[in-house]
Amino acid sequence: MVFPQFHPDSRALVKQYLTPAVYEQLAPLETRTGFTLAAAIQSGLKNPDSHIGIYAGDALSYSLFSSLLDPIIHVYHSVEKTFEHSPDFDQTGLNQTALDQTGLDQTRLDQTRLDQTRLDQTRLDPLDPNKAFILSSRVRVARNLSGFCFPCHISSRERTRVEALIFDAAKKLPGKLGGSYLSFKDLSPSQMQARLTRKQAFPKGDRFQDTAGINRDFPDSRGIFSSRDKKFMIWVNEEDHLRIISMESSADISGVFNRLCRGLGHLSTRLEFAFDKKYGFLTSCPTNIGTAMRAGVHIRLKKLEKNQKILKKLVAQYQLQIRGTSGEKTSVNKSIFDISNKQRLGIPETRIIQNLHSGLAAIIEAEKSL
Ligand code: ADP
Ligand code: MG
Repeated sequence: MVFPQFHPDSRALVKQYLTPAVYEQLAPLETRTGFTLAAAIQSGLKNPDSHIGIYAGDALSYSLFSSLLDPIIHVYHSVEKTFEHSPDFDQTGLNQTALDQTGLDQTRLDQTRLDQTRLDQTRLDPLDPNKAFILSSRVRVARNLSGFCFPCHISSRERTRVEALIFDAAKKLPGKLGGSYLSFKDLSPSQMQARLTRKQAFPKGDRFQDTAGINRDFPDSRGIFSSRDKKFMIWVNEEDHLRIISMESSADISGVFNRLCRGLGHLSTRLEFAFDKKYGFLTSCPTNIGTAMRAGVHIRLKKLEKNQKILKKLVAQYQLQIRGTSGEKTSVNKSIFDISNKQRLGIPETRIIQNLHSGLAAIIEAEKSL
């Protein structure tokens, strides 16, 4: 066993917390599916500019490698050292057997806390009523199916099974949530390109995901389920088994969130998601655990773009993060910022929406005052 050599310039959290003692403890271990520390840290080792640098290969990775992952999670999500997570919705994931016996059971569906009262409480004052700044709102949650390896460690057979289970659940979505599934495998390269340009497909993951093993066999068993109005989507087998997304071209974040709750509630009655009391919903990247939710907007900030100090201060104050116009690790184009919540663990979903709302109100005020 040789202690891994990270790039001298690397500031990845995995480099900071993988001490020789932690390495000695974790290097000989493997999860029940055969996932190891060596596999988990590949991305951080090969990309000197990684921020985190570690991925989970299955649900058990979190407990087995906790002496390395816990301090990283503690720092990223700003939670107590002895954190735990209880989600605000949909923790009642039903297992498949129960459903096969009962069909879609309304009582169980209600237990997913889809009650209108609670959702209505998250209706917030309209942000940006004159449509001057916010171009679109998007809320997504990441989920993985319980009992399957996560994308960086999954076999192609398992991946195909995951796709089939998600497809089965998605085709039963009712009303406005209903739609169709597009399998990327059925597209020619030029059709795929056209879809990518129109943002109706997701591309192969970036080099961080690539070195983690997430891009293997792309585009096999990948695809997107979209509702007819294209406001509700499920990305299948991207960085996680499911990225459940609600989005629209408006500033109505709570409306977008409520649609997500409805869709997620229905899916939770048919799919069992990987969940843990301490870590919340389990995802490939430790930055996503907990609620696994990222709620954000695309917002045009011409003045703040030139006064980034003010913008960064506000973003930090409200626990938000900035991404580029085409997503994580891309640049800001035509002054369009992607602003979303940073913390996903140890915070209820509804509070994430409220914090985002307050933060955006402050950012819009600052933009107007310049
Ligand atoms: P995540 O991993 O949280 O889903 P990424 O940063 O990987 O997000 O971005 C995924 C895609 O979603 C990118 O194409 C990005 O431009 C798009 N996107 C993110 N937020 C918004 C938004 N508010 N409006 C429109 N598109 C968005
Ligand atoms: Mg992403």
